[in-house]
Amino acid sequence: MSAERTTSLPLAGAASRTAPHDATPGATQAAPGSLPIAETFVSVQGEGRLAGVPSWFVRTSGCNLRCAWCDTPYASWRPEGSARTIDDLVREARASGVRHAVVTGGEPMIFEPIAALCAALRDAGLHVTIETAGTVWRGVHADLMSISPKLANSTPAPEQGGAWAQRHEARRIDLDALQRLIDAHPERQLKFVVAAPTDLAEIEALLARLHNWRNEDVLLMPEGVTPEALAARAWVVEACVERGWRYCPRLHIELFGNTRGT
Ligand code: SF4
Repeated sequence: MSAERTTSLPLAGAASRTAPHDATPGATQAAPGSLPIAETFVSVQGEGRLAGVPSWFVRTSGCNLRCAWCDTPYASWRPEGSARTIDDLVREARASGVRHAVVTGGEPMIFEPIAALCAALRDAGLHVTIETAGTVWRGVHADLMSISPKLANSTPAPEQGGAWAQRHEARRIDLDALQRLIDAHPERQLKFVVAAPTDLAEIEALLARLHNWRNEDVLLMPEGVTPEALAARAWVVEACVERGWRYCPRLHIELFGNTRGT
């Protein structure tokens, strides 16, 4: 699949100017009107309500979390990329010829200029989806807010995460940010990565502490980056049927495997 990416330049040294939510070494702050970008590419959306829709993706570099199973370590554990201006990004999005833009990460919401990028993309006539873990509240306009709260299964073991294990666990759920995102975005999805049936009780407990969401907002996506691992998750379908939630396939894994830029 075509992948027009930025060059991969290390962002080391920029950490001291990161947003307060992001104590990420090597992740990122760019000049006003620009954002640290790990990659851009054109593909089909692989997950959620708009699965299959041709989209231009922009992946900001840097994350305030460190999921154990993160499939974009080049935007979290080992952030890379280069600063790009909003004007440049919007020009590229328009030139891509597709009508949907997906603003993803990393965690795009840790960057203040993300609101201006989304506004400019929408002004250019693109439908904008923001993909976020829902730990940061920021007033932004999006046509679809795709929120993926991280469950306990995301927390790295101390030997994997070091200091990040505790930091991740403390940050992964922010009820106030989640509720504000839900309230501000009627067009939304709550996408949970599930690894075992025990995750279901955790999701239900979290949803019980939130309001204003609908059953059809809730999507369960099996964890796994191989078609074989995903095929072993029939229990996820059953859980969705029982609760009126949605099963969320990972189309890009099915089509391309765990490949960057797809
Ligand atoms: S929130 Fe997303 S980008 Fe950040 S560590 Fe988790 S999976 Fe990776």
